[in-house]
Formats: sequence, structure tokens, C-alpha cells
Amino acid sequence: MDLQLLGESVCPYCGVGCRLRFEGSPGNSTNPPVVSKVRGVETAPANLGRICAKGAQLGPTIRTADRLSLPQLRLSRSDAFKPIDWPTALAYVGECLTNILHTHGPEAVAFYGSGQLDTESAYVASKLFKGCLGSNNTDSNSRLCMAAAVAGYRTSLGSDGPPGCYDDIELADVVLIIGSNMAEAHPVTFDRLKASKQARPEQQIIVIDPRRTPTAEIADIYLPVAPGGDIALLNALGRMLLMIGALDTRFIDDHTRAFEDYRRFLMNQDLAELCETAGLEEAALFQLARLLAGAKTWLSFYCMGLNQSTVGMWKNNSLINLHLLTGQIGKSGAGPFSLTGQPNAMGGREAGLLSHQLPGYRTVEDAEHRRQVEDHWGRRPGSISPKVGLTAVEMFRALEKGQLKAIWIAGTNPAVSLPDLHHVRRALAKAQLVIVQDAYHPTETTRLADVILPAAQWGEKEWTSTNSERMASYSPKLFDPPGEALPDWEILTRLGRQLGHKGFDFRSVGEVWDEFVGLTAGRPCDMAGATRGRLRQVAGLQWPCPTANHPGTKRRYLDRRFATPDGRAVFLPRDHREPRELPDHEFPFVLTTGRLYSHWHTLTRTAKAEKLVRREPAPFVEVNPLDADRLELEPGQPVLLSSRRGTIQLPIRLSEGVSPGMVFVPFHWGDLFGEGNAANYLTISAIGRVAKQPELKFCAVNLEKVRSEVRGQESGIRSQESEVRDQMLRVEIRCPW
Ligand code: SF4
Repeated sequence: MDLQLLGESVCPYCGVGCRLRFEGSPGNSTNPPVVSKVRGVETAPANLGRICAKGAQLGPTIRTADRLSLPQLRLSRSDAFKPIDWPTALAYVGECLTNILHTHGPEAVAFYGSGQLDTESAYVASKLFKGCLGSNNTDSNSRLCMAAAVAGYRTSLGSDGPPGCYDDIELADVVLIIGSNMAEAHPVTFDRLKASKQARPEQQIIVIDPRRTPTAEIADIYLPVAPGGDIALLNALGRMLLMIGALDTRFIDDHTRAFEDYRRFLMNQDLAELCETAGLEEAALFQLARLLAGAKTWLSFYCMGLNQSTVGMWKNNSLINLHLLTGQIGKSGAGPFSLTGQPNAMGGREAGLLSHQLPGYRTVEDAEHRRQVEDHWGRRPGSISPKVGLTAVEMFRALEKGQLKAIWIAGTNPAVSLPDLHHVRRALAKAQLVIVQDAYHPTETTRLADVILPAAQWGEKEWTSTNSERMASYSPKLFDPPGEALPDWEILTRLGRQLGHKGFDFRSVGEVWDEFVGLTAGRPCDMAGATRGRLRQVAGLQWPCPTANHPGTKRRYLDRRFATPDGRAVFLPRDHREPRELPDHEFPFVLTTGRLYSHWHTLTRTAKAEKLVRREPAPFVEVNPLDADRLELEPGQPVLLSSRRGTIQLPIRLSEGVSPGMVFVPFHWGDLFGEGNAANYLTISAIGRVAKQPELKFCAVNLEKVRSEVRGQESGIRSQESEVRDQMLRVEIRCPW
């Protein structure tokens, strides 16, 4: 096989947004493409040549036997799927959706997308559902990871989107990492931080996390906050900063609002009580407060540990309060920096995919925003509903209640990733129509579908994404998709035309992009200057980038003017709130879930890379040795984990990284690896009031010895269904109702 340079693409896994260079063979009509070598691109700002094991092992995940090459349909859920052609699939989906819309109205249909979708696809989905079908029921799995950060930025600073950039890592005197296991979830950014610490040992790194993860290995100070104790900890720090006079009064006076309310709120708090709730010694927190007070610059990184909570937005507000108090925002080396979980969670938000959003960081509730978008889309006034649509968890609740009839799931696997999976399965079983658009089949979700549409993945299409530092990057097509798989944006565009709507005659992904960026002009995420032609010539452009000769914006708010109506950032006093479900005599342990270095989300790709699987072949539960002793549990022994929602069985891994009374389970493994044995069969679907993000980091569980052989663990993927081209349904298939 002749190896050649295939080209460069952004990595399809995490929000770091590494640009990677691929070597191999592009394939031809008889041979599939092969990627044999992957390296980081040295000049790429996101990774500067670095790469992690997941990116390096993309090759084996491209042309696996379970790649979808044709649409699949079954008329009854007890039937096997049969392959069909695209015109038949689109006609069937179009007719079923039309029937549901006519019978039950626009609120009976929903689109549940993903931070894996490129910006163009998120934009077309938003246009089709919000602009044409009249349903704001579009959401994304970003709701599970970033919704609290979005709401935190919006309420404190006036706009979503982190203020800083990766270059701030080397410029910060102190880096505070709270609720983020960067070492495993954002490894390349962590490697950059590690290199910065090696070059400048005086740089202080603080890690705050209930679980001592590999991220704590480079910490000067590690603080094991009590699960759910983050707000108390942040308020204690605020109070201590006030006590030691570490305020930037000029910044507070000139650029913020409501400081006096915040000061009064903190002074009314009982410091000893705050420290007790945070589970930390007052002296340890004073040490940290002094460090922050003495730092010329301090930067915070945070992620799911703050966000996946019913008070996730409040946790974000509480952290941003500290940046405002010390004037550590809107300058190099400083600011709050939410680490985005997925490659394009940011782009999906820019394109208006979340249920309250419209493209360009607009909202459906704002009449002027709706008018601007209707104008741009050529829709009549009033086409877009002013009602906020259903969010991720709410969609599945509505399905179970029968209020939502049809759901279109694209690029995500909610039958593993959503909380309370028994409920999710009941909800999908109740749905009248489940359409799943994915690159692979079976996944835990495609198995529950009526129609499966084959999507081209990264490398097989042109696409654009925005990474954690607001950098929009274009990735070219490197090789052909299998069979008749199509880019997500094209599937949605074809359906738009099938349903008879105007505005879906895009001839290329570039046309979609240019229409989208036109809607960002003058908005906080302005990308009007990042045209398709320009993006193809540069590694990326950071928004705002309003004009064709604008260089992009590394850091926002350098003029200390925030995105609020009066330009001032807002202090938001937030009180500690208990998690929704606390341990008790029946369920005495706290379960927290998270990720591992080798795997990505629900294993749809990483389970196909042998080297990654060898590192972490199967799920486990991490238990503190003291608890294991007390319950007479041995390492490797299977235990039953139960919550009010379900029971699973996993082998024990002893770890002092979890404190007594707490257990950790990685959430990657779903039903394909062990029926009914995923972490999310235990988790709670309680959601926050504003951000509507589920509390995936905290629920009460019990842990007990397996008394008898309950169930063997299956490992590996079940054998995939073979494609049966000769059984293709070529007849006209009609919607059954
Ligand atoms: Fe891909 Fe994230 Fe690893 Fe970079 S750090 S190679 S984006 S998984």
C-alpha cells in the first residue's frame, strides 16, 4: 500500500480542538481508506504539535464492519432493520413527520443533536425545526456538559463563550482547576499546562475535586472538596478575599454591578459553616485565598465537576464572582475558562441548537431576535415560536408522557449518556417515531430506532467546528464515506426540500457556512469576517472576527466592557444548595461518574481501537479501601451497585482517590457491553432550574457484595448486523399511521 499525506483535520473527539495530520491511503472503489499514521500539527494553536492517544488511534475507527452505508428501516420494532435507498427513506420520514405535525402540532416533534455535529449541520437543523416546522424542541447533548457554563457566562458577563485563550496558560501565576479532570478529559491542554509548570516551577497549580484524579499529580495544592460543596468553598474564598482586602476596587467600581449586594451576602455567611460544608480546613482555604490575592494573574479551568449539577449555573456564577472581585478577567493570563467537552459544543450553540437559542447567540424569547432570524431565513413574521423548547432530559420525559411523538437523534447515543436509562428506554419505546442519524450501527440508541440514517463522519466530509478557545476551524474532506452515507447537513437539507420548504437548496457546505456567519454579524460571536474562503487558508479564527481583514480575537473584554446592556459584569450572590438526592441509610454512598483517558463518551469509536481498549477494557467501580474493608470486599470482586432507579454489577477497583463514602464509575460502557449494566442506570435525571443540566455527578447509591452469580459481564462489542443489500426494500413504503 502506498502511503501518502491525506491532509489535516480537527480531531473529532474533545473540545481542545487539536489539528491532526493524517497519512495513509485514501482508498478507491474497491479498497476502503486506511489511516496509518496520525500526528499533531506543529503550527496549530490548539495543540502545537501535541496529540493524545485517542487522536493517535483514530485510524482503526474509520472503516469498521459496523459503519452504516445505507439508510435502514423497520416498520415494527420487533422486526429486523432492512436497508432502503435515500429517496424511500426521506419520503417515509417526510410523510411520518408531516402526519405527526398535522395531527399533534409542531411541539410533538424534536431534534436531539450533539456537540459532535459540525456547525453547518447544527445550523441547518435549527433552520428546519425552528424556522420551518415551528418547533423549538431542538437541543443537544451539550446540555449534559456545558449548559451550566453557558448560563453562568450569560448571567454574569452577558454572553456565552470563554473570555480567554490557551496562550493564557503560560501567562498565569496561579492556575485554579476546579471540577475538571483535565489530565484525562482534555489531555493536550493538560500537557501544555504541565510543560508550563516545568518551565516555570513557581507557577502555582491548585486542583479542587472530590476525587483525586491524575490531574492532581501536578498540583501544588490539592483540595478534596466535599461532593456538592463547591459553592460553599467559593463563597468561603470570596469571604476570605474580602477579609484580607484582596479587592481590585477600581475594577469593581468601573466595570461591575451589584458588588455591595455580594459583599453583604458574603459578610452574612458563617465562615466556619462554609468550610465545614466544603469539607475543608479553614487554614487550607486561607492559604489558597492568599495565593489568589498575591497573584498578578490567575486563571481558572473548570468542566463537568461544576456544570453537572442542579445548581451548576450558580457554581459558575460563584467562581466568576471571584474573578470579578480580584479584577482577574479581561487581561492576559486571567479569567474563567470552561473546558468544552465536545469538539463542536461551542459551534452548536453559535448556530442556535439549544432549545432557547437562535443562531448568533440570539434567543427565541426575544421578539427582535426572532424577527432578525426570520428575515434572514425569508420566513414570514411569526414563523419562529417564542416558547423555549424542550431540553434534553425534558424531551425524554415528554416522550414518556406521550406529549412528544417523534424524535430525531443525530450524532449522539442518549441510551448510554443520559441519566436514568430505564426511563430513557421507556421513553423511546413509547415514541411513535425514532429517527437516528449516526455513522455506526448498532449503537445502544440505533437499536431502539425505527429509521437509521447513515452519516459521513470527520474525514469523509468538509466541516467547521469551534473549539474551547472560540477558534472556528475548517476541516476538509480526506476520503470518501462508505456507501451512500451523507454529511449530516446534507441529510437535513434533503429532508427540508422533501417537506417542501424553501431555503434548503445549498449546493455546498460552504454555502451553508456563509449563510450562517451572515447571521452572526454584530453579535458577540461575530464570525462575519471568517468566510469559507478565509477559513480554508488559516488554521482557525477566534471570534469575534467581524470583518474580512480582522485577525480574530484572542481575548475578549480587554476593554473591560462586558456583553451586558450597561457593559458591566454582574456579581451574583449564590447560596450553597444541597444536591437533589442525598445519601441515607438505604443508599449511603455518593456516586460520581466521569471519563477515562482512553475512552470517549459512549465508546462508539474508541471501542474499535484495540490499543485504547487494552488500556481500559471494561467498566469498574472505584471504592475507597476503608469502605472495601468494612464491607469485606476484595479488589476485582464484583459488587452490586444500586440506586432508587436501578442496579448494576461491576468489579471493584480500590482507590484512595475517592474518599470514604464515595464511589466513582466511568460512564462510557453501555448495553452493548453488558445489558442493563451502564453507570447511567443509576444516575438521577434531576435538572437545574435555568440551565436544565442534569445532576450526573451526584446521586445516592448502595454498595454490596454479590451473594450469588448474578450476571456475567459481557465484554467487547456484540457482533454487528450485516448489511443485506439483496434484501433492500425497494417498494414504496408508507407511514403506518
Ligand atoms: Fe483529540 Fe482531545 Fe486528544 Fe486533542 S486532546 S487529540 S482533541 S481527544
